[in-house]
Amino acid sequence: MYNLSDRIKSMSTSQTLAMAAKARELREEGKDIIGLSLGEPDFNTPDFIKEAAIKAITENYNSYTPVDGYLELKDAIITKFKRDNKLTYDRSQIVVSTGAKQSLANIAMVMLNPGDEVILPCPYWVSYAEIVKLAEGVPVEVPTTVETNFKMTPEQLEKAITPKTKMLWYSSPCNPSGMVYSKEELRGLADVLQKYPDIIVVSDEIYEHINFVGDHFSMAQFDDMYNRVVTVNGVSKAFAMTGWRIGYIGGPTEIARACNKMQGQITSGANCIAQRAVITALEAPVSEIQYMIDRFKTRRKLIIDLLNDMPGFVITEPEGAFYVFPDVSYFFGKTLKSHKINDATDFSMFLLEEALVATVTGDAFGSPNCIRFSYAASEKDIEEAMKRIKKAISEA
Ligand code: PLP
Repeated sequence: MYNLSDRIKSMSTSQTLAMAAKARELREEGKDIIGLSLGEPDFNTPDFIKEAAIKAITENYNSYTPVDGYLELKDAIITKFKRDNKLTYDRSQIVVSTGAKQSLANIAMVMLNPGDEVILPCPYWVSYAEIVKLAEGVPVEVPTTVETNFKMTPEQLEKAITPKTKMLWYSSPCNPSGMVYSKEELRGLADVLQKYPDIIVVSDEIYEHINFVGDHFSMAQFDDMYNRVVTVNGVSKAFAMTGWRIGYIGGPTEIARACNKMQGQITSGANCIAQRAVITALEAPVSEIQYMIDRFKTRRKLIIDLLNDMPGFVITEPEGAFYVFPDVSYFFGKTLKSHKINDATDFSMFLLEEALVATVTGDAFGSPNCIRFSYAASEKDIEEAMKRIKKAISEA
């Protein structure tokens, strides 16, 4: 027994990764598991991006990079923010990190003192709460439901604010609900925040391009919020580059420089080859990746239609990202094939063991009545998975 830190002992394991590990275990036993649990596009990184990486290797990009990223990459990010979000940042406001996950961890580490509260509208991305806790902050969950399209209202925000509130974190499009805050909805939240000028907003826009309602809006676009918002983005999702590990922020200079200082002591600059490739990715028009977004749209319709064809899955139609997050509380209290279903975790486990389909329990995202399906999977897998689920619940 080693005497590990209290910090690590109190941290939960990522439930998405835990489910993936359980699915892998069953696959190793020879079971044909369909994985709908991982938040990862099933596409290859586009060739034009791969070619840029190969060129970078040939051109001997192999040294440490500036901690906050190559100047050319920061400039490509500045141009992207201007082009896609009408946001103006200068180089001092940009920090490139090893994935948006590190961007978020940097922000938590530089902003939070012990006991500071961070408002997290539920459902939220699994790592938010753990990152906040790691920085000795306190996550404050604000529950939303399928009936309110999983969106936090201004009234709910106002109620959650206390003298200790330091930040509000959300993703839009949202992992896991797929909801997208409209400009008007963000304005409603911003109006509340006007009364509390010290609260900083972290707007995680990593699914920005995977948006089926078509009007992505960034909180920082409001003039009266610009100085209080850190916009987080990255290439993992829309560019199918999860393993390349590049994320970035645009935000107030003081916060960005603090993130730079933090990163300089922990990891230094992100991978040099990946940074060169991302310059090419961000400079390309969004039309280069449209084929993936179109496929996600087709799959969204497919999975929604198939889920609607079964009893017990209450769905709000996702507007973006590649997840659907049905409320499955209909099954609670029932016994399905000798599995007593008390909660979403039991139901998710039932689906894994009896339908051989991997999902993630909503507990992981602060929404215990739901489960998350990722439809970043082939149409064939989605169809087969839904067939198996229909069979498993009807036999029960
Ligand atoms: N933010 C959200 C909402 C995500 O879903 C994810 C990945 O699943 C991340 C951030 C992390 O992205 P990255 O791969 O850039 O670290």
